[in-house]
This record gives sequence, C-alpha cells and structure tokens, in this order.
Amino acid sequence: MGEAGGDYGWLVGQRRRLERERAELRASLRRIGEAAGGDAPLTRLAQRLHARLSAASLALTRMDHGRYGRCERCKRAVEREVLAARPTARYCRACSQRGREGDDDG
Ligand SMILES: [Zn+2]
Repeated sequence: MGEAGGDYGWLVGQRRRLERERAELRASLRRIGEAAGGDAPLTRLAQRLHARLSAASLALTRMDHGRYGRCERCKRAVEREVLAARPTARYCRACSQRGREGDDDG
C-alpha cells in the first residue's frame, strides 16, 4: 500500500472495465453461437466481437505483465485520456494517428 496508490487505483478501474467488457463479449458470442448453431462460419458481427474480445484479453495480459499503458511502437506511456476512452488502446496518440493500425473502431 502507499506508493503509487493513485496509479494502482486507476489500473484497478481499467482492469474492471476490461473484465466487464470481456464478460459481456463472451455472453454476446455465446448468444450468437447458439442462434447460429455449432460450426456455422462466423458472421461479420461475430468476427468483430471476437476481435474486441481478444483485444480485451490481450490488454489484461499486458496488465498482468506490467506492460499495460505502454505504446507498442514507441514504448512511451500511452496518454491516460486515450486509455480512458479505450482501455484496449495499444498505441499512444501520436503513433495511432501516424499508423491508423486498423484497430477496431471506425
Ligand atoms: Zn507511440
């Protein structure tokens, strides 16, 4: 306790958001899966949901390894506002504007 307490609280909040998103995405996929029945090819919606699910899982993995919030391109800290708007963000603002990495939002 004590040191970097604010940071820790912020991270816990981000983790909760990611875990909730992951649970919701899994529930949606289960619902879709049941409707489509078994091995039917993934619909575009299902593909999108899968992409978001794996983004959320990857963000949680990065958190477990202490790499959450670090830009994967320039290795600088990703701005808090960017992560607040999108907890799965992998790039800082400058890099995502430069790259337009085909991330999931349009
Ligand atoms: Zn960057």
